[in-house]
Amino acid sequence: MDTSRDSRGARLLSAPSGVLPYYLTLELAAVMLPVILPGRAVTGQDWVWFVALLAAAVTQAELSVQVERMRRFFSNNPHVNMTSVWLFAGALLLPLSIACALAALTYAHLWLRIWRVVPSVRLYRAVCSAATAALSVVAAQSALSLPLGSVSIVLSGVAYMLVNLVLVVIGFRLHNPSRTVVSLTGSLADHLLETTTLCLGGVTAVLLIEHPAMILLVLLPVVLLPRGDLSRQLHMTSGHDAKTGVLTAGEWQRRASAELAQASQPYGVLMIDVDFFKRINDTHGHLAGDAVLRAVASTISDEVRKGDLVGRFGGEEFVVLLPATSQDHSMSVAERIRHAVTLLEVTHSGTVVRGISVSVGVAVHSDSGASLDDVLAVADQAMYRAKKQGRNKVCAAVRARGGRDPSRGSVAALPP
Ligand code: GH3
Ligand code: MG
Ligand code: MG
Repeated sequence: MDTSRDSRGARLLSAPSGVLPYYLTLELAAVMLPVILPGRAVTGQDWVWFVALLAAAVTQAELSVQVERMRRFFSNNPHVNMTSVWLFAGALLLPLSIACALAALTYAHLWLRIWRVVPSVRLYRAVCSAATAALSVVAAQSALSLPLGSVSIVLSGVAYMLVNLVLVVIGFRLHNPSRTVVSLTGSLADHLLETTTLCLGGVTAVLLIEHPAMILLVLLPVVLLPRGDLSRQLHMTSGHDAKTGVLTAGEWQRRASAELAQASQPYGVLMIDVDFFKRINDTHGHLAGDAVLRAVASTISDEVRKGDLVGRFGGEEFVVLLPATSQDHSMSVAERIRHAVTLLEVTHSGTVVRGISVSVGVAVHSDSGASLDDVLAVADQAMYRAKKQGRNKVCAAVRARGGRDPSRGSVAALPP
């Protein structure tokens, strides 16, 4: 995985405090550790392996230019980099100095041929990714020196993966303080892909010792694997709002209606509107406004369960479906979201936006008579009541006389 994607387009000097010292520390460590740590002298055989691994990395990147650019474009998280195959093989076979040089040259080539033209990838973050890869190589080789026989190879892979993940997550978190650590650690599919690359790295090392020409057999899966990952990303992003990553209004409606058709328990709908959002745009600019929308969307997603549906209803309005959720629980989820948003500090190009708040309307549907639009309309009315009561509030739908509002079908209403 690596850090080079800068989803906010921020420049290094205007990045949040802590980013610059962190990057400098990583880069210094990546340069110094291969010099300081004891290592064996480089032999002629090492140079042959070095050239073979570098040639494989360059060939793989050249065969994957378009796919890698698209994977970069779609990824908003730490990104699984297939070059780990060659770098891990280098960590297993080569003296530390040239194993780290392999990481530096491989990343320089990736920058020149692939990332340079992707608008969101900045050079300083690509340099930091190269440093992270070199430090992962250092960790892998340190674990390899443990006297544990073949187990140390497994530990070496685990060390490579863990150091990489921890350094990348810290970098991302410093850039985006509003993202939770959990949302940055990547999906199970990402970890499986990373594990596969490291296994292929181990196989490559063995092949280089026993049958060097056979590493061509490893090249093919390394070129093909990202294509599968790209189609997974494409599948996951279809129906998602490009700006905020949550469901588009149409997709939310489609999925919510499907849930509704088979709902046997009460479910809640939250209508969430960012307060005085126009003022945020007017004060900090529309790009900062966009960053606020992303942060609010990610906060909402972090506060709900996996099966709950979060959608962008309109400009600065979000909607959430909470299947199998009681009235009290819907209210407490809404309150949790409202509170979490007030804690947000969104950094964009050197400015920090604070004091963000949302007004939330809650409606709970308790039997199958009402349509989704009915429930939404009730939640919307409740949201406008929250606005009228001063904003930064959660309001439940008003109970109609007799406990039911006939104009709203069977939407169960909450006490005001
Ligand atoms: P209220 O508390 O009453 O909701 O006030 P508000 O300012 O949030 O509401 P209003 O409807 O007056 O303004 C919403 C603003 O949201 C106006 C529109 O320009 C802005 N907006 C809508 N979509 C986007 C977007 O994608 N990005 C940005 N930056 N602004 C957007
Ligand atoms: Mg609005
Ligand atoms: Mg608003």
